[in-house]
Amino acid sequence: MAFGRGNIHLSFGKTGETPPCLLREGNELARILIVEDELKIARFLELELKHEGYDVLIASEGRQGLEKAQNEEVDLVILDIMLPGINGIEVCRRIRLESQVPIIMLTAKDDVSDKVAGLDTGADDYMTKPFAIEELLARIRVALNRKKNVKEPKLDNLEIGDLKLNLASRSAFYKEDELTLTKKEYELLEYMIRNKNNVLSREQLLNHVWDYEYFGDTNVVDVYIRYLRQKIDEKYDIHLISTVRGVGYIIKD
Ligand code: CA
Repeated sequence: MAFGRGNIHLSFGKTGETPPCLLREGNELARILIVEDELKIARFLELELKHEGYDVLIASEGRQGLEKAQNEEVDLVILDIMLPGINGIEVCRRIRLESQVPIIMLTAKDDVSDKVAGLDTGADDYMTKPFAIEELLARIRVALNRKKNVKEPKLDNLEIGDLKLNLASRSAFYKEDELTLTKKEYELLEYMIRNKNNVLSREQLLNHVWDYEYFGDTNVVDVYIRYLRQKIDEKYDIHLISTVRGVGYIIKD
């Protein structure tokens, strides 16, 4: 079986060593997040994946799955589409705002529109229930190996127009001019530029940039957007941050 370049052999050694596809750098076991509300399926997958030697995390609804995908180190996500709360398509879309972790979607029936929606939002693969566990395991191996072979480019700078962020020093420049931003202003700007061309809701900005002490208090977002506009839009007479009425804010290319 060929899994692309890299000479990864899937034979299990006589000595019982762990095959390389299960390992991430540092020889830790690959960790798989299962987001599935049907307990029987979740348990079954957990047992099978653990038996294969993976480390497993489980979430039983969408928001919990999203939080685990965002806050834990996860190498692959198995994501059911029909979930209580936020559905799998939306969870996938939100994961993709900040991560390229491989995602395999599970669809309850052979629903073409679900598959298309899942792949459109950035899922790598999908399985239709009921499925053979061997097929899912094979697809997991493929996705993990593909991930290993694609080194994400490490960015030093983020640029948008004449605005440049230096990620290492966490500083921002407009042309040659260094901006004097506070820590939160910088973090808000970096998050918005990383997610450029996406409308970001106040809740989303609050959840990603602020600590939980501000939970639910989205006014703080408006205040900091105003600071950024004073320091960038108004100072340099440009239009960087747009308000999307009733939704939130966006930085466009
Ligand atoms: Ca379900």
